[in-house]
Amino acid sequence: MKVFPLMLKGMGSLRWASRQIGARRSVLWVLLLALVMGLLGTLVWLAGRYEASQVQSRLERDALETVTDIRTGLTRNIQSFQALQSSERSPESWRVQASELLRQSRELMRLEWRNESLKVMAFADTPYRSPVFERLGRASAQADVSLACTTARRLSGAAYSISYFMPQSDGLGFEMLDMCMPIMVAGRLVGYTVATYSLQDVLGEMVGKQLARGQSLAFTEADGTRLALHGTATRGNRIYVSQQLLDLPGNTLVLRLESRQGTPNFFPNVLTALVTAMSLALMAVLFLLARDMRRRLKVEHDLGEALAFRKAMEDSVLTGLRARDLSGRITYVNPAFCQMVGIQARDLLNQSFPSPYWPPELADTYLQRQTLRLAGNNLPREGHESVFMRPDGTRFPVLIMEAPLINAVGKHTGWMSAILDVSEQRRTEELSRASQDRLQATARLAMIGEMASLMSHELNQPLAAISSYATGSLNLLSYQSAAGKENVAASVGEDLTSDLQLVMGRIAEQAERAGKVIKSVHDFVRRRDQAREAVQPRALLDAVMPLVSLQARKLSVTVLIEVDPTCAPVLCDRTMVEQVLLNLSRNGMQAMHAAGGVAASRVLTLRVRPAASNARSSWVEFAVIDQGEGISPEVAEQLFTPFFTTKVEGMGLGLSLCRTVIEQHGGFLGFEAALPRGTIFSFTLPVAVTAGKSSSAESQHGTDP
Ligand code: ADP
Repeated sequence: MKVFPLMLKGMGSLRWASRQIGARRSVLWVLLLALVMGLLGTLVWLAGRYEASQVQSRLERDALETVTDIRTGLTRNIQSFQALQSSERSPESWRVQASELLRQSRELMRLEWRNESLKVMAFADTPYRSPVFERLGRASAQADVSLACTTARRLSGAAYSISYFMPQSDGLGFEMLDMCMPIMVAGRLVGYTVATYSLQDVLGEMVGKQLARGQSLAFTEADGTRLALHGTATRGNRIYVSQQLLDLPGNTLVLRLESRQGTPNFFPNVLTALVTAMSLALMAVLFLLARDMRRRLKVEHDLGEALAFRKAMEDSVLTGLRARDLSGRITYVNPAFCQMVGIQARDLLNQSFPSPYWPPELADTYLQRQTLRLAGNNLPREGHESVFMRPDGTRFPVLIMEAPLINAVGKHTGWMSAILDVSEQRRTEELSRASQDRLQATARLAMIGEMASLMSHELNQPLAAISSYATGSLNLLSYQSAAGKENVAASVGEDLTSDLQLVMGRIAEQAERAGKVIKSVHDFVRRRDQAREAVQPRALLDAVMPLVSLQARKLSVTVLIEVDPTCAPVLCDRTMVEQVLLNLSRNGMQAMHAAGGVAASRVLTLRVRPAASNARSSWVEFAVIDQGEGISPEVAEQLFTPFFTTKVEGMGLGLSLCRTVIEQHGGFLGFEAALPRGTIFSFTLPVAVTAGKSSSAESQHGTDP
């Protein structure tokens, strides 16, 4: 009763603990998810940034290459200009040569040959445009030219002017740049070559062809003012810019390369796409893992419940449970077992033979038995009895049932035993045996009491006869002495002697009869030996006859004895069977007495014959037949119930005891109605097997009838 709340409490605390673990686990999961998301976000962002930096550095490289290209182009042009001045030319031939050069280099707008005082000796305009100084005239840029030439003279090489805007006659205009190169002949300055570049065409002609789509190239001033532009950047939300300095003698220009990335591009490159795909895969794996974990948790929970239930069950059973491994070491004990042997579980676990609860005097026997049993693997299903000992030395009987312990994969790993403390059972059995003995003794005493009263009645007769014989003898003796005085003839004396002898004989006879009556009761009371012996059926009847006759005479009953002479001796406890015969005879006589009627009809028959039911006659049937009132169905129902009686002075124990006695002999006691009236009580006893005879009786003993 107390176990159940305990079990509930145990399961409750288990549930609380599992809730705690569940809460902690979900916090961990959320943390893990946040971390993974953060990590993935960072990865995608880093991938994006990496891509941007890649684009930027590519742009830087392009810009640097562009600057180099422009510088190379300008240097190549300078070489062409030197070739133009290489020999003393006439202005006409110079112009032809210059026009050719202008046709080849579209970025050049005009070429001039000036003398040492900067006066124009000859000039040629580009054939691709109308003359650039048409609208404002060449003089407008004179200051820039002379500044550049001054620098050129100082440097003894080509120098560039600062750029300037030159409006055109078509309304447009563009940024121009002059280059001045001194013409030296034998170390003496003889003039200048002045070339006018259009900045826009410098971009277009020198590097424009290499420009990628979506890129634009511009010359700007240091403050960002755009001077010339080539290419148009397509629309895009991301602009990558790279600026490089184009350092020219006399002027420094800033080259700005712009690149725009396409409209919102979620996956700007393969790397980002790869990282995103991997992130998605990771998320999917995480999801699967979470699902698996959830399933695992459920199984864990179910397992926990099952375990808690099993534990509660093992703790609450009253049967001791003990498991041993194959080498005999104890691997498990339940609380009931610990309580039974009075030893704590920790002192029992891992203990091998001899076990701490074995009585020392039996340890050797147990060890042998255990070794045999474990080796043979033939354990009795119904168990075996043993004796265990508590630490205080008390011994107690136990019933042990053992079975092989088979694990989940079908492997034999040890032995499982269920142990029952049977001391209480033994005590009860002992008590019931003692009480049965007492009951029998009481019944016997009750019968003796009854017989004592009969005996006193019966002893009256021989005693009265003895007394009258004694009186007669005394009379005869006094007569003899009187005759002696009167000298009576000798023949008379002889008669007297023979009379006295006769009387004395009778007295002795009666005394003997009285003695027999007493002896028969005495024998019955004193004979207690339980041993079974072979007895002639007739002898059994003879033994009870004196007592039966006593009662028969009192109740005016005639007793008839019918014994089949072929009957073999029976194997029985003589005293007990005599008691049965006495009981049945007494019941029969009392039934006839109660029924009334004339004395002639009161016949009690004691019959002995081989049991008809058995062909080999290994059983003998005894029957007590009366002509009494018979047994009604109501009485018949309770006939063998202890203490059932219909008599005023009856105890109701006779028949139940009779049946017990006969059944203990392996026989059967029953009754049936006799015709025309009365009852037949009959019982069977086994035939005693003597040496040389067939052992059929013994083989039948206990099973038949
Ligand atoms: P008791 O003789 O002390 O009453 P028994 O157990 O011997 O106890 O008998 C129980 C009852 O069975 C008797 O009281 C009687 O009513 C009935 N009985 C026993 N034997 C006979 C018989 N031969 N004829 C009729 N009734 C009987």
